[in-house]
Amino acid sequence: MFYFDYNATAPVMREAREAWLEATEKVHGNPSSPHAFGRAANHALVNAREQLAHHLGCHPGDIIWTSCATESNNLAMHHFAQTLPREAEIWLSPIEHPCIDNSARHYFGKRARFLPVSKEGVVDLEWFTQEMTDKRPGVVTVMCANNETGVIQPWREILSICQAYEVPFFTDAVQWLGKMPAKDLGQCDYVTGAAHKFGGPRGVGFLKIPRGGKITPLLLGGKQERGQRAGTENLPIIMALMAALEVRERQLAENQHQTRAEWKEKFEKLLLRQVPGATIVGAKAPRLWNTTSALMPEGGQQRWVTRLDKAGFAVSTGSACTTGKETPSHVLSAMGYPAGQLTQVLRFSSGWETTAADWEALEKGIVKIFGEVHHGR
Ligand code: PLP
Repeated sequence: MFYFDYNATAPVMREAREAWLEATEKVHGNPSSPHAFGRAANHALVNAREQLAHHLGCHPGDIIWTSCATESNNLAMHHFAQTLPREAEIWLSPIEHPCIDNSARHYFGKRARFLPVSKEGVVDLEWFTQEMTDKRPGVVTVMCANNETGVIQPWREILSICQAYEVPFFTDAVQWLGKMPAKDLGQCDYVTGAAHKFGGPRGVGFLKIPRGGKITPLLLGGKQERGQRAGTENLPIIMALMAALEVRERQLAENQHQTRAEWKEKFEKLLLRQVPGATIVGAKAPRLWNTTSALMPEGGQQRWVTRLDKAGFAVSTGSACTTGKETPSHVLSAMGYPAGQLTQVLRFSSGWETTAADWEALEKGIVKIFGEVHHGR
């Protein structure tokens, strides 16, 4: 079986499993307890916070551990809704993950304003620059890289415009972290991440908040995380998150992602050549080295997913597809694709473990299925 659904979740790497096991076996205490066991657990927690802050380029006190990125994103949205002036707008991209999109709509209603994106899936920086000269939202939210298309967003440019006007900037870095260097993310006011996208376990994430800031908690009933997120911290999975991030940051520093980008580019070239009618979404935009989003000919996405699954390839439609029904992509819709194409898209997302041979096997598998479908088999 070939796994090409890393953007949904990635296998837990050995280093993360070992870190989890070691903390589970050796660190019994509750970090809030006032005895030696508690102090040992708190010490480990403080170290993990320092490590993450070091990678992001922020202060350890800016980090709140959470159970996942969905929680982090909801926590941030809830905080904005509680603290921004009643008339303040949130400006966000229409290609955000549903956990941002839905909570922004929930808390802000008509005060959620969506930024235009280009046909290539990039937030329109010119529009944004122009609009910011005479209007001020309460907060701006744009993800680092899109989970469906892999298209990288101009988050650094948006951040500096926001800084110039003293507007807080929030970025969902879930698909960026562990694939691209974390450095500089700490300059954003709010950042979210989750371990399971880069080789850590599921069920752990974080929210980075502004220096000296205090977030309005969603979960009440405990003083953990300086009163900002009640509930005993799950130390072993936090240790596992950090072990995974350490490995990824090292691989990135060694530029190990460059070759992997070349394997994916080769796959895309062959796909376009061998499958007439296929097109790559966001082809002209900068994209993550691991993600290909393609509009496929010969039938809808579910047919392709099922056929590829039978042939031993786990791929995805990109958007939430849990019911086996075709799900029109809100991302492609925002990019201006016509309704008929919104259910034609397939996402192939690789990981650090994916090899050149895996990409070649996928390309051959697709070509074979294309031939069969084309000839009505
Ligand atoms: N944000 C982005 C960009 C994602 O891709 C995902 C998951 O696919 C999430 C947030 C939610 O992450 P989690 O499932 O860990 O809560």
